[in-house]
Amino acid sequence: MRPLGEVKVTPPIYDADKGEEWIHRGGRTSEPGRSSIQIECPFCQAQFTAYIWSITGGGKKCPDCGAMHVGSGMAYPMMKS
Ligand SMILES: [Zn+2]
Repeated sequence: MRPLGEVKVTPPIYDADKGEEWIHRGGRTSEPGRSSIQIECPFCQAQFTAYIWSITGGGKKCPDCGAMHVGSGMAYPMMKS
């Protein structure tokens, strides 16, 4: 199994070799307690909202293809098994 660099949560179901940067589509980080951003998945182009604490914590899964988006700005697709 290959490590995912600084990513803390590394379940082996994600493909570290195929990481791509996710796309920031705006968001609001000024509201206290509601710091969320709009993300576009680089693999399936789905757009969804993620809380900052979520993405810098365990990461945020794409609701469509299941790719994991993490705080380093990278997204990792699920392993094809
Ligand atoms: Zn996706």
